[in-house]
Amino acid sequence: MQRRDFLLALAAGTTGCLSACTAASSASGPSPSAPPSTQASPSASAPSSQTPSPTPSLSPLHLQDGPPSLPAPTPAEPVITALPESVGNVVAITVDDGVDSSVVDAYLDFAKDSGVRLTFFVTGTYPSWTDNQAKLAPLVESGQVQLANHTWTHPDLTTLSEGAIIDELTQCENLLRNTYGITGAPFIRPPYGNRNSFTDSACAKMGYTTSTMWYGSFGDSGLLTEDVLLGEAQKWLLAQHIVIGHANFPTVTHLYGQIIDILRERSLMTATLDDVYFGPGHNRRI
Ligand SMILES: [Zn+2]
Repeated sequence: MQRRDFLLALAAGTTGCLSACTAASSASGPSPSAPPSTQASPSASAPSSQTPSPTPSLSPLHLQDGPPSLPAPTPAEPVITALPESVGNVVAITVDDGVDSSVVDAYLDFAKDSGVRLTFFVTGTYPSWTDNQAKLAPLVESGQVQLANHTWTHPDLTTLSEGAIIDELTQCENLLRNTYGITGAPFIRPPYGNRNSFTDSACAKMGYTTSTMWYGSFGDSGLLTEDVLLGEAQKWLLAQHIVIGHANFPTVTHLYGQIIDILRERSLMTATLDDVYFGPGHNRRI
């Protein structure tokens, strides 16, 4: 109860800042998720948004414990762009690629601090997915973080033969199996969103029967300013959306506090695709 009051007060304080301080947020003031070294010395300034480093259980980023309450799972269709209406005030945040290992690491800290549930679409060729194994594996094991297939080298699948598509998916699948002991199926995100009935059919032969598109993006596959990225987050973090972000550039890692503010303002909870389409606790071990 005490913690709830604290969080409500915090949300109110930071919400006020969100509209007023957006333009200034790119001035690199430490966010709640900034590295511990920047929070080592107590700061007396900006009391509303720069709360002193809390204990983990009282993180100012905290949003949820465990999955949201959800209706009975709905089988995923061959192509999905949004969650079923029946999930209510739930959003799925999906994070692609993993070009920058330190961004994946920061996302994992964010997940641990906030309870936010994430689905990563892994591009297997990047070292991020083995570099971060120690931190990622327990989150995968608990179901808070889900791993799915975004190919091995991120090609446009519509330009490939069936054999080449299967090879791309197989290499990524093997990484997930060998590193985490899981399968990523049935969720495949075709790079660039480029798919057709031919590519869907080839993916399905590997068990990847759900081409996972999106309904809104942070737009950060390339480098963005914090203001632009935050604007996209405000635009798209809405009930039943599948929102896409990227673990490619550090910009998003400076905005986790603001992203939590948006989710709180809209009473949104996060869910993985497994939570929605298979039910929490879905076992992906192979
Ligand atoms: Zn991608």
